[in-house]
Amino acid sequence: MNLGLNGKLALVTGSTSGIGKAIAKTLAAEGAQVVINGRSQKSVDAALNDLQLGDRAIGVPADLGTAEGCATLIEKTNAHGTIDILINNAGIFQPQEFSAISDDDWQRFYDVNVMSGIRLSRALMEPMKQQGWGRIVFISSESAINIPVEMIHYGMTKTAQLAVSRGLAKTLKATGVTVNCVLPGPTWSEGVEQFVKDVAGDSDLAKTKEAFFKENRPSSLIQRFADVNEVAATVAFLCSQQAAATTGSAVRCDGGIVDTCF
Ligand code: NAD
Repeated sequence: MNLGLNGKLALVTGSTSGIGKAIAKTLAAEGAQVVINGRSQKSVDAALNDLQLGDRAIGVPADLGTAEGCATLIEKTNAHGTIDILINNAGIFQPQEFSAISDDDWQRFYDVNVMSGIRLSRALMEPMKQQGWGRIVFISSESAINIPVEMIHYGMTKTAQLAVSRGLAKTLKATGVTVNCVLPGPTWSEGVEQFVKDVAGDSDLAKTKEAFFKENRPSSLIQRFADVNEVAATVAFLCSQQAAATTGSAVRCDGGIVDTCF
């Protein structure tokens, strides 16, 4: 299927590793020009070097946990034309007991996981509206529904993204701009590898990975981590011309871990 993304300009936040990097790679393979973002110049350069996309990739380091960082990213990407596709993927997660989550931690999770997407969408929606075409995708999580007891602050941010995405889709009614959330389930990324190591401590990673679904995620119907490319394919379809009738949706790519069919 030709997704009709040739020549589109896509900004994928947090695309120096994991799911974001796979999304950038997939969109570029579909003919889009992609903006690669991460917190540091070093991580952006490493991703650009790894992806080998030539002039189809533009690197812009910016810390999206601050208003200034979001403004820098917008200013630098605007220099390359109107952003057609915005993927709000940058996110942080870390296991922490509820009683140990400080005010600062709550705020940091909210700023990085929620405010970054709000700030970028607010800045980029108007030009999309004016050209009568745009795609905004928030990378939420199954944790928006299955609030993880080991990181309630993370769950809060992922639920908040559902509200923002749905409300924004309503705001952009009949404009040609669609807004959706994708809810991945456990997906083997660099960030998740670190997370599993944090939870498992010094024990054997391969064994922990194998036991994770039996012990921690028994409701998963695939009983394995998704591959980042599987999530990226779902996102790419939502960005396509063919997905024009899908907006205001929460699309699950969660291995069936949430025990409902809708
Ligand atoms: P990851 O840690 O491998 O990658 C996260 C990316 O976000 C990195 O490129 C990092 O540089 C970037 N990032 C983090 N903070 C940033 C900041 N302040 N400014 C700019 N960039 C920043 O993580 P991942 O597993 O690929 O997760 C990506 C997204 O998918 C997150 O929003 C996460 O919540 C969501 N998600 C992941 C899973 C999973 O199991 N991997 C499941 C559901 C949802």
